[in-house]
This record gives sequence, C-alpha cells and structure tokens, in this order.
Amino acid sequence: MTKKILVTGGAGFLGSHLCERLLERGDDVLCVDNFFTGQRRNIAHLMSHERFEFMRHDVTFPLYVEIDEIYNLACPASPVHYQFDPVQTTKTSVIGAINMLGLAKRTKAKILQASTSEVYGDPEVHPQVEDYWGRVNPIGLRSCYDEGKRCAETLFFDYHRQHRTRIKVARIFNTYGPRMHPNDGRVVSNFIVQALAGHDITLYGEGRQTRSFCYVDDLIEALIRLMDSPDDLVGPVNLGNPVEFTIAELAQKVIALTGAPSTLAHRPMPSDDPRQRQPDISLARQRLGWEPTIALDEGLSRTIAYFKATL
Ligand code: NAD
Ligand code: UDP
Repeated sequence: MTKKILVTGGAGFLGSHLCERLLERGDDVLCVDNFFTGQRRNIAHLMSHERFEFMRHDVTFPLYVEIDEIYNLACPASPVHYQFDPVQTTKTSVIGAINMLGLAKRTKAKILQASTSEVYGDPEVHPQVEDYWGRVNPIGLRSCYDEGKRCAETLFFDYHRQHRTRIKVARIFNTYGPRMHPNDGRVVSNFIVQALAGHDITLYGEGRQTRSFCYVDDLIEALIRLMDSPDDLVGPVNLGNPVEFTIAELAQKVIALTGAPSTLAHRPMPSDDPRQRQPDISLARQRLGWEPTIALDEGLSRTIAYFKATL
C-alpha cells in the first residue's frame, strides 16, 4: 500500500531532495513549510506530481492530517538565519517537536527528527560518538539552535518512553549540495557564491577549525534507511561524512575547482564556533549498512555546476 509521508521543512535544502526521493520510490508526500528559509523553486518541479501535495503551515501551530510517517526537518539550519529570530528558532524546534510528536501519537505514525551535530557543541571528544553528551553553551548566540535541538531530542525520547511513539533521531553533520540558498550563509554556499562572483572568500578566523562535509544525496539515502530500519533502532544515529577538512582547505578547494581569481579575506571568528567536528559513523555503518560514497571534490563540482546554472 502507498505510504502517506509528511515532510516538514520540505521546501528547504534537504527537505526538497527528500520529497523528490520519496516520490521516486512511490510514496504519497505531504510537504509542509512556512518558507522562512525554504524556496518555492526548490519544489516547483514537484508541484504537478500526482502524489505530491504542498501545505503552507508553521509547525509551531498544531497540524491535523492523517499520515503514516513524519520526517521533521522544519527549522532554519544556517547560523545567520537561525540567529535572525532566535526566539522563533527555539519555538520551531521545541513547540514544532511537540506538535509533530502529538500528531505521531494520534495517528500512530513513525517519526524521524532531523537533529544535528550541534548537540555536541564545541566537542572535547573527537571524533564525536553518539554517547558523548556534548559541550554546549546554554546562553550564547548559537544556543537557540543547539539547545532547541537538544530539547527536541529530549521530547522525542520522552514520547518514546511515555507513549511508545516510534521514533528515529538522526544527528546530521554538515551537509551541502544543490538547492542550498545562495544567501544561506553556510560555508560551502558562501565560498562557492563568492568565488563565482570573483569576490574574496570570507574565512572566519585563521580557518583552522574543521568540519566534515557530506553530499546531500548520501545524506538523504541515510535518512530513508534510518526511517525504514527496525523499530528498536531509535538512535541517536550520527549521519555524515567522516572525512575531515579545515575550513582553509575547503576555501582552497573551492578556488581551485572554480578557477576563481579570489583571495582569502579573514573575518573575526563568530562566537562559540566549534573548533572541530567529525562524526564517528560506526553505528550507521553497522545498523544501516550505510556510508557516504561521494567525495568532497566530486560533491563540490556538482554544487558549483548548480550555482553556475542558477545564479
Ligand atoms: P533549510 O533552512 O534549507 O530548511 C529548513 C526548512 O524549514 C525551510 O524550508 C524553512 O522554510 C522551514 N521552516 C523553518 N521554520 C519553520 C516553521 N516554523 N514551520 C514550517 N517550516 C519551517 O535547512 P536544511 O539544511 O535543509 O535543514 C533541514 C533540517 O536538517 C533542519 O532541521 C536542520 O536543523 C537539519 N540539519 C541540517 C544540516 C545541514 O548541514 N544541512 C545539519 C544538521 C541538521
Ligand atoms: N565559515 C567561514 N566563512 C564563511 C562562513 C562560515 O569561515 O563565510 C566557517 C564558520 O566559522 C565555521 C565553518 O565555516 O567554522 C562552518 O560554518 P557553517 O555556518 O557552514 O556551519 P556550522 O558548522 O558552523 O554550523
């Protein structure tokens, strides 16, 4: 039987790729988004699909629909956007989680939370394993996002223990690819857009901080495998590409791959910017039989091609 699947944040970067993949494999998809950071053009090609439905809705308000599975992705993900209205960011994570968990409880739907590596904060354990509790500033500029996502995880596990809700918690590490917003503010899109415009590349600090970048197609595959995994696998499960780079190395790669004349322009380091980040994906390897297949150079080339075509 065709499954009816709700994707919140479905007009965003990850959400639009997820909707596309679910439609391809034959599911009915209800995409819910308030267009805070999402874009109509991300889902324009899906609007005429007979199994796709879009609803403009803010997840901080209750939603009454009948569905079999929920992927809860609604939340701005870029520091620039989640710090623009930090109170709304916390509301989206916390009240949004309560509303979607309530919906899952009533409809007995399985629900997956798009959590984040930010729950580890500026980590002392490297690479990060799922049972590390993290080092997060509760009162800083990033806290609305980090603590909002941590509280959402708490709600997911309490609904699971208290109401036997079938949950899946994915801790997603930095993911990039086509359909990132050009003004998104995250590092990969920033560097590519700057390079293609022939502008300087804004490197925060010395660029010695590290991240591990996962290409979107790999990540979507992992989210679907996690949703489809046996009920005992509730997570949290780290999902990301474990190959670690410094931000200065990323800048050099973008300059080389675009052939841009750009030079590096150093900017102050933002507050609470994590110094290192790399997922330990042993659990995902074992339980989902998953690991990333697209290396950074290949993923960057595809993303550069997308921005060249759309800008
Ligand atoms: P994105 O900003 O492109 O997508 C988020 C979507 O949620 C947007 O379409 C936005 O309009 C929508 N949204 C925001 N607030 C909403 C609300 N109150 N009601 C309804 N819709 C709302 O970001 P993304 O990269 O696609 O991230 C998707 C999810 O994955 C987020 O929850 C994010 O925290 C998580 N995540 C992403 C990454 C990454 O690297 N891309 C890493 C970790 C976690
Ligand atoms: N960064 C940078 N220049 C930019 C944007 C980001 O040097 O124009 C750095 C940022 O300080 C951080 C890393 O790149 O150390 C990743 O930033 P992003 O906002 O993409 O995601 P984060 O992992 O910090 O949430």
